[in-house]
Amino acid sequence: MNDCIFCRIVRGEIPADIVARTADAVAFRDLNPQAPAHVLVVPTRHLAAARDAEGEEGAMLLGRTLQFATRVAHDLGLDANGYRLVANTGAGAGQSVFHLHVHLLGGRPMGWPPG
Ligand code: 5GP
Ligand code: ZN
Repeated sequence: MNDCIFCRIVRGEIPADIVARTADAVAFRDLNPQAPAHVLVVPTRHLAAARDAEGEEGAMLLGRTLQFATRVAHDLGLDANGYRLVANTGAGAGQSVFHLHVHLLGGRPMGWPPG
């Protein structure tokens, strides 16, 4: 058993506002939302970051996670105005939880480039 916070959310040991889940990914609302819609999409399998997804299995995991994120966005009604999918990778890029996750942000205009 690891004590990774997102693994604990996946296992239901820590409460979270779960939006959707599949056999291999979970979507839940960010504790500190940066947009009206701010959902974290995580694979159930623990990987520290996207760059740790190797080979065919890693490709499937990344593809499924991203595809699931777009489905969640659709179900939240975000398609019409657009949304942003972000995977901070490494502390220097702002990653603070080292379990691969995609931020789904929507419900407001998005500036570019991100800070
Ligand atoms: P990162 O900085 O790694 O890209 O994103 C981590 C995100 O996880 C942050 O936006 C932070 O607000 C969120 N977060 C950290 N701990 C928890 C938690 O226990 N529950 C939820 N729902 N979100 C969390
Ligand atoms: Zn984890």
